[in-house]
Amino acid sequence: MLHTSFIELSKDALNNNIRFIRRQLPPEVRYSMVVKANAYGHGIEDLLPAIEECGVTHFSVFSTAEAMRVHEAKHEQCEVMIMGWIDDDYLEWAITRDVSFFVFTPERLTAALQEARRLDHPARVHLELETGMHRTGFCEDQLDGVIQQIAENKTYIKLEGLCTHYAGAEDYTSYDRVGEQISTFNRLCSRFEASGITPRYKHSACSAALFNFPETAGDLVRVGISSYGYWPNIETKMRYTMKHDIETNPLDRILTWKSKILSVNNVAENEYVSYGKSYLTNRPSKIATVPVGYGYGFSRTLSNNGHVLVGGKRVPVIGKVNMNMIVLDVTDVDLAAVGDEVVLVGRQGDLEISISSFSDMNNSMNYELLTRLPNHIPRQVV
Ligand SMILES: *Cc1c(COP(=O)(O)O)cnc(C)c1O
Repeated sequence: MLHTSFIELSKDALNNNIRFIRRQLPPEVRYSMVVKANAYGHGIEDLLPAIEECGVTHFSVFSTAEAMRVHEAKHEQCEVMIMGWIDDDYLEWAITRDVSFFVFTPERLTAALQEARRLDHPARVHLELETGMHRTGFCEDQLDGVIQQIAENKTYIKLEGLCTHYAGAEDYTSYDRVGEQISTFNRLCSRFEASGITPRYKHSACSAALFNFPETAGDLVRVGISSYGYWPNIETKMRYTMKHDIETNPLDRILTWKSKILSVNNVAENEYVSYGKSYLTNRPSKIATVPVGYGYGFSRTLSNNGHVLVGGKRVPVIGKVNMNMIVLDVTDVDLAAVGDEVVLVGRQGDLEISISSFSDMNNSMNYELLTRLPNHIPRQVV
């Protein structure tokens, strides 16, 4: 093992998740898998072929750099959509490759139009509409100008989408806010339609929206976290499973993260372990080190807090998480030897460490923990 840990990606789990999510949607709705942030830490290049084999042909990213990676890795017929960052210098790259992109400012719309004219090739544009999140998007008072510009330049601006994003579709406490966004979105879209402008796709749903507000599916859904086997939050899982009266989790985590024991030592009672004085042994202890620390994706907030699986047992992380190591208390593991498997996330025997249990411990979210998994960890689809 060259690197200090490795990630396994389960194709069966991926296939299960995509099929489950598709079953929530009318068959004509396009499934765009969101693969921003290195495919939520799973690895764009590693996972893309498996996603394609599950029948997905549309990918959403945030940045142009991510779009380039997806473009390199994907099959010819698959489509790429940039939901965020594209610099004017890269409009040519996107336009000539039919990579579509969100437009939410008049400046970008004009720049895209100019580039499309110069290249004599239409730009595929998704107009993002401000419906209440107050982040990015055209405001209502800008729409007359936008509609006119689109109507006058149909050769060079292909309206790929009208879209928006919801500000908290996972939380019941945002129910009214999202409800208002939905009706605002519909109203703004109809202004385009009234002017004879029909987009290829109307789209607004992320994972949480498609579960909690299925009416938002539109023509295309942008599904990130749930494709990877996670609920956007526990509340969404509870709402879904109670409503459909199901007991087993229909989503499967596709990622397993493993490492190996680096060393095993005995420590007497009443000794401090690792940096500082945050952990004192209260019995003669056997400790094991594992070569992953905060520099390798294992959050420092799991100091004296995290658990991992060793020898079929759940064991605590003791002391501070270091840059490249954690220390475990393996006193209760009968056999714990150098080179033994350590499961940081995933199953070992009957036990499991989920990303969410991991994040409950440190008040983070699935999203953040996943996307902080470093790029250098080798990934393999199994
Ligand atoms: C990240 C993102 C999504 C996907 O969200 P999930 O909660 O992971 O499904 C959808 N739309 C936009 C605009 C996003 O930025």
